[in-house]
Amino acid sequence: MSNYASDFMSEVRAKNPAQPEFHQAVLEVVNSVSLVLERHPEFRKAKIMERIVEPERVIMFRVSWMDDAGETQVNRGYRIQMNSAIGPYKGGLRFHSTVNLGILKFLAFEQVFKNSLTTLPMGGGKGGCDFDPKGKSDNEVMRLCQSFMNELFRHIGSDTDVPAGDIGVGGREIGFLYGQYRKLRNEVTGVLTGKGLDWGGSLIRPEATGYGAVYFASEMLVTRKQSMKDKICLVSGSGNVAQYTVEKINQLGGKVVTLSDSSGYIYDPAGIDDNKLAFIIDLKNTRRGRIKEYADKFKTVTYTPFASGSDHNPLWNHKADCAFPSATQNEISAKDARNLVKNGVYVVAEGANMPTTAEGVEIFLNAKILFAPGKAANAGGVATSGLEMCQNSMRLSWPREEVDNRLRQIMKSIHKTCVEAAEEYGTPGNYVNGANIGGFLKVARAMMAQGLV
Ligand code: NDP
Repeated sequence: MSNYASDFMSEVRAKNPAQPEFHQAVLEVVNSVSLVLERHPEFRKAKIMERIVEPERVIMFRVSWMDDAGETQVNRGYRIQMNSAIGPYKGGLRFHSTVNLGILKFLAFEQVFKNSLTTLPMGGGKGGCDFDPKGKSDNEVMRLCQSFMNELFRHIGSDTDVPAGDIGVGGREIGFLYGQYRKLRNEVTGVLTGKGLDWGGSLIRPEATGYGAVYFASEMLVTRKQSMKDKICLVSGSGNVAQYTVEKINQLGGKVVTLSDSSGYIYDPAGIDDNKLAFIIDLKNTRRGRIKEYADKFKTVTYTPFASGSDHNPLWNHKADCAFPSATQNEISAKDARNLVKNGVYVVAEGANMPTTAEGVEIFLNAKILFAPGKAANAGGVATSGLEMCQNSMRLSWPREEVDNRLRQIMKSIHKTCVEAAEEYGTPGNYVNGANIGGFLKVARAMMAQGLV
């Protein structure tokens, strides 16, 4: 680490105590961006990095609602408006019991660079609530969403801040949030993305993050004159990103042998084909059940519950070619990274945000495998949200092929930006540096041009 990066991190840690995920995300970026600052002293003089780690605005608010038993419940809501130099704040809402300020700041920070990479004019933001939708009725989820929007509505707008989904916020929640916004504002605008097709949503948006991650992996494979065909793949999670990652891998002729939820994982050596995937989609999106039921339904499948407090995740200890971590942050420890490399995995495309620990990333980079960080590999979701915003502004809906083609082109373009930036700054093949530098440069130039605001 350079002296600059080390001093910078001391300051970030002191100013943002007890936010380890935020420190982790900033450290990775400042290590990459140090290479740029050496060549561009003007960015350093203008304190672009010092400004970029400070959110433009943080909103924290009470979310009180009544459960089905008539008991009052109190949660905490957040929106981090991180950076709007290149466009309106854009980024998802997460509903999960682990949500706190540090986690949302890490996500909002990553989002700034990711959105910059998409080629679309979107700033970075993130929000959420420490609410766990598991086991809650539809009515309880609706009341929570309405209470959440009763405060959030004054801070967002189609030209200001456009939230979307993330963990725990899918089509059902976006519907309830959007309905309440429309009632409070008395206006129909593209203020949220991930909407239903009948009320302003875009085709391919639900699929986009998973499809995009597989398109990105395919681009990386092209650099080694290979394709996804016949590749054995490990996928974690079983939510939105994981489901459409499996669908696209199947379409391209690969085979997925694992999926998980927070309780455990399944290993299916025969592969999760489209029929089995349909079972998962119904299990997770409609019946809201646990992944263990997959092993009860299909024979020859093994289910392994996760041991609490373990330093590794056994899902990552199977022979495979590719890995698509698609559940949550820090789900690949150093030991997992070593297991993956040892078992022959040479493509890792992060569908989730920061699923690999800093030590794990180091192991992948040293092993010179094709490693795509989340801010590049999972940018297809927000890119297609950007396409949903375009369609809303024009009051038009593009056909499926058009959105999918645009998504594919955007993923190609992000891949090119990463490759070129990594090469230009002397670290060819390092997609971490490529994504951080490519994403940073556009935002830094915009901040310089717009003065000290
Ligand atoms: P979903 O809520 O649809 O699915 C999340 C999945 O991850 C579930 O299977 C969940 O299991 C599992 N999971 C969540 N928390 C944990 C945990 N602490 N340990 C183990 N498993 C866990 O979310 P998404 O698929 O939308 O998001 C997955 C990841 O992708 C997140 O990192 C998100 O930030 C990122 N992402 C999502 C985008 C999108 O468009 N949706 C865009 C870009 C990134 P369980 O049901 O047990 O909680």
